[in-house]
Amino acid sequence: MEIEALRKEPHLSASSVAGYLECGLAYRFGKVDGLAPEFTPDVLVFGSAIHEVLAEYYRSMSKGVRLSGDHLKKSFEKQWSERAADNGSIRYKEGTDYRSYLEQGKAMLAVFAAQVPVENCKVLAVEEPFCMNIEGLPAPLIGIYDLVIEDSSGVITIVDHKTSAKSYSVDQVDQNFQMTLYQAAAKANGFAGREILLRLDALIKTKVPKFEQYYTTRSQGDEQGALKRVLVAWEGISKGVYLPASVGSWRCSGCVYQDACGQWMKGEIP
Ligand code: SF4
Repeated sequence: MEIEALRKEPHLSASSVAGYLECGLAYRFGKVDGLAPEFTPDVLVFGSAIHEVLAEYYRSMSKGVRLSGDHLKKSFEKQWSERAADNGSIRYKEGTDYRSYLEQGKAMLAVFAAQVPVENCKVLAVEEPFCMNIEGLPAPLIGIYDLVIEDSSGVITIVDHKTSAKSYSVDQVDQNFQMTLYQAAAKANGFAGREILLRLDALIKTKVPKFEQYYTTRSQGDEQGALKRVLVAWEGISKGVYLPASVGSWRCSGCVYQDACGQWMKGEIP
């Protein structure tokens, strides 16, 4: 089923649960109060353009064609210009602009094309929606896999694509909540008896861009813990509990509801 169709029905998304757990107040502003974001973060638009190019790469790979670095760079130019040229709502970080991101994206994809391993694997899914029922949750949990591949020995690898300012730590990868949900969803959707690996493929926005792949796994206990967190998040949402992120949280610097949050903190809005 298409993600748009899934979104039309009552649901909870893996990303919104993660967002609620990071900051309940931002969740409330966006999902409950329906406030429009105060700006569009540059990294969000940039990340979505890169995601689309990587999806093109893997869709093509599923047909036996490996796209060149030059092709990926051209695709990025198109994706980026469609999203960002003339988009006055984008807030660029100091020292960056439309042009600098254009050059950075092309440099990152050149590194990706040069360094991504030639995998002897079958592409099972690219940008594929999933839907999972969780006991105690009144609506299904939905999300999207960036990429699912299967190697020649039948091992399934669920890949999440990221763009990041710096490399990930082992803990960040091992504790990534959404990746745990991806594994639980895969098991609920026909892969229960299969060996599953999780992989985070990161394009790092350093001066000289880097491409890094991090493998990780999750136990059944990890999955149970993540599903429990989903249920607790749902309980909080259904009872109207919307706690702000703690002071100084990394979440606040890029938050699209900073003005509304300031007003809420001063008691100017309930
Ligand atoms: S500024 Fe921070 S605490 Fe306030 S809504 Fe945004 S993320 Fe939450």
